[in-house]
Amino acid sequence: MLLIGNGRLLTLVLDDPYQADGAVAIAGDRLVAVGPTADLRRSYPEAEWWDAGGMVIMPGMINAHTHLYSTFARGMALKDAPPKNLVEILERLWWRLDKSMTPEDIYYSALVSLIDSIKCGTTALLDHHASPHAVAGSLDAIAAAVRETGVRACLAYEVSDRDGKAVMRAGIEENVRAIKQYRDSEGSLSATFGLHASMTLSDSTLAACREAEQELHSGFHIHVAEGFQDAEDAVRRCGKRAVERLAEQGILGSRTVAAHCVQVTQREIAILKETDTMVVHNPESNMSNAVGCAPVGDLFASGVLVGLGTDGYTSDMFESLKVANVLRKFMAGDPGAGSELPAMGFDNNSSIMSSFYPHLLGRLEPGAYADIILVNYQAPTPMTASNWFAHVLFGFSSGLVDTTMVGGKVLMKGRRLLNLDDAAITAKSRELAGRLWSRL
Ligand SMILES: [Zn+2]
Repeated sequence: MLLIGNGRLLTLVLDDPYQADGAVAIAGDRLVAVGPTADLRRSYPEAEWWDAGGMVIMPGMINAHTHLYSTFARGMALKDAPPKNLVEILERLWWRLDKSMTPEDIYYSALVSLIDSIKCGTTALLDHHASPHAVAGSLDAIAAAVRETGVRACLAYEVSDRDGKAVMRAGIEENVRAIKQYRDSEGSLSATFGLHASMTLSDSTLAACREAEQELHSGFHIHVAEGFQDAEDAVRRCGKRAVERLAEQGILGSRTVAAHCVQVTQREIAILKETDTMVVHNPESNMSNAVGCAPVGDLFASGVLVGLGTDGYTSDMFESLKVANVLRKFMAGDPGAGSELPAMGFDNNSSIMSSFYPHLLGRLEPGAYADIILVNYQAPTPMTASNWFAHVLFGFSSGLVDTTMVGGKVLMKGRRLLNLDDAAITAKSRELAGRLWSRL
């Protein structure tokens, strides 16, 4: 057993979110006790002692929507004129990159992104993968990187019609295989059923996905109404908007994660609530792609569960939280808007990610996974149970993350990676990315 104490404890448990002097007791991959340091030292005198030296002890950050394969896009030159909308961004950037990826590229891009996650204190993420010319086994390549780094990840392959029937079928098979292989695993891996977006999925493909998913009850991980094109395409296909179409096609539900939901109407928000679909807001990606902003206030007011992700824009959830805050205020034209932020960044991400694992994530309480970070934050003003979020929002940053632990295993301590050769891995990544760029 390990006792980490003499820290400021940010439990994120609803009725007791913050304790000025606390400790956590860890056995195996989970927490067994959380409370005042003196109490836990008395209760577990034989436990190995780790003095947090006054740092903040909190659950690792959760990224509820990302793309590990996006790593090699950094600095990549585009051959055509700069894209003017989301579809052109997909066609000129992402769909060129993902078509060129080999299994080795997939493995290294995941490895680099997962290392970045460790450094940012992100201990769990929901990934959405595409590599149309290397579909079979692609999720195993990511799984190998997940195992090597120790970060927790729920995988999915994005099925679409854009590369023809054979690739579409291979995508379905990759999801089914991975879900059977990784769900209920006691390790860091899980899997769900990935779909690209309504605009790249025909009715017959959606029916085939639904049929394959029915025996698995995995739910889906899909982009929904990210841009106006997704809404227009759905109207063209069936006279209904994207959320309405996906609901009719049986894709939405309490195990489905709908990323974005930017271009949605009040009627569509009501459907998201009626179907208990989980929504993930990705503020930086949405702003960068100029697709608009999800109606976060309306979604919350309607009782939709909204979490926070990065869509591959960054691995840094502290950054995503800061941007979500300013965007929410800016869009509302109200400096007082944004009361949803703590729920979105913490409670709801905990609920979303925990739905893919046997035990609780994102909270410090007995029985939860020992996914913990130590943040070297010195509060310049009093930090209390009622104002902890303001300290997180304005004071915390990924560079202050000193220690990252997942499932009781220390991945980084004193900002030094314990089990990974960062320099060698990034050197190999640069070499592979350069070769991929030359193939574009
Ligand atoms: Zn995405």
